[in-house]
Amino acid sequence: MSRVMVIGCGGVANVAIRKCCQNHKVFSELMIASRTKSKCDDLKKKLENMQTKIHTAAVDADNVNELVALINSYKPDTVLNLALPYQDLSIMDACLATKTNYVDTANYEPLDTAKFEYKWQWEYNDRFKKANITALLGSGFDPGVTSVFSTYAQKHYFDEIHYIDILDANAGDHGYPFATNFNPEINIREVTAKGSYWEKGKWIETEPMEIKRIYDFPQIGPKDMYLLHHEEIESLAVHIKNLKRVRFFMTFGQSYLTHLKCLENVGMTSIKPIEYNGVQIVPLQFLKALLPDPASLGSRTKGKTNIGCIFQGIKDGKPKKLYIYNVCDHEESYKEVESQAISYTTGVPAMIGTMMVVNGTWRKPGVFNMEQFDPDPFMDALNKWGLPWQIDHNPVLVD
Ligand code: NDP
Repeated sequence: MSRVMVIGCGGVANVAIRKCCQNHKVFSELMIASRTKSKCDDLKKKLENMQTKIHTAAVDADNVNELVALINSYKPDTVLNLALPYQDLSIMDACLATKTNYVDTANYEPLDTAKFEYKWQWEYNDRFKKANITALLGSGFDPGVTSVFSTYAQKHYFDEIHYIDILDANAGDHGYPFATNFNPEINIREVTAKGSYWEKGKWIETEPMEIKRIYDFPQIGPKDMYLLHHEEIESLAVHIKNLKRVRFFMTFGQSYLTHLKCLENVGMTSIKPIEYNGVQIVPLQFLKALLPDPASLGSRTKGKTNIGCIFQGIKDGKPKKLYIYNVCDHEESYKEVESQAISYTTGVPAMIGTMMVVNGTWRKPGVFNMEQFDPDPFMDALNKWGLPWQIDHNPVLVD
């Protein structure tokens, strides 16, 4: 029995909320609060026959006072932040002011700088400790499940993990020449930024898409993948002891990259405001308005995703390697929750992470990344709630 407030009602929230309703013994009551209340009401209507009692509200999550007033009126045990990374700090401030637990799926990024890192949220640790509340950061797939895979491998299969390669493959085809699978602004900011990886205690920066590899993914086949900077490599570098290197690769098709290059070359991916006919516009936000809404891709996307981690290290004095991954089918996801697999693979762990906090399994005062808790209950929940994982003890390595 719990009361949870979900902030945001976009692609990921739509999945997380439906999964909360499937898990009604834990999520008996939910408040969906977002910028556009009609979206919350539409979803509530679709879930009328579920046992979870749903309330809706409008909220501007950039406004701490508004958030505090809403939290005080509903009194949730935990807030699940599924708005955008720009709102993380204002929502954490509101949680502190009301002594409410906090969960999110993406780390804070200032609106005017395309640079995400944990330092801003880690700085809340002492205040969350003092307030005796938990903040669970990055409870999506990557970050999120990839971090849990890492501590699971550490706990059960390795004495020391030396190398982690996180591989995120999407072989989904939505039939559009160019579209992004989640919020286009966040997605394009991520992939046009410089890449980086962590090796021997140092960050090594690369040009965007400079490092390319081809990997033959289980159930998907060979795909081009590119090294990107990604959130979880920052926290894994801190929390996995004896680590020598951690990298992150994501697959992109040639059509996506060619379109992106053109858009970049003409300035359409810029986040610097320009004046057009007396109005200030941000080119990337204008582009977002032109692109298909990621939520509309669900019904047209076919194919699978495969996201996982390849570990190398030592067990009982001998070299050991291991690959833990999940394969998710876009059409199956759509059949179950009317969303494609990208939102599905994020929304399910968002629900599970919130459940871990709500039911006390992962609750302690402070600000935590996913790999700082016991992975076993989360790994069991992944199997139960739609993201079963597999282990390959002899994977091909990435050079
Ligand atoms: P969407 O753009 O589909 O949804 C965002 C929602 O937040 C919308 O409902 C939007 O309202 C609402 N929102 C935005 N600004 C505000 C505000 N100021 N006040 C109140 N509500 C607001 O994004 P996604 O669902 O694709 O992504 C949600 C989060 O999940 C993002 O932070 C994203 O980075 C993260 N993510 C994490 C992944 C992981 O694996 N860890 C993978 C994919 C995404 P409106 O409807 O009015 O626009």
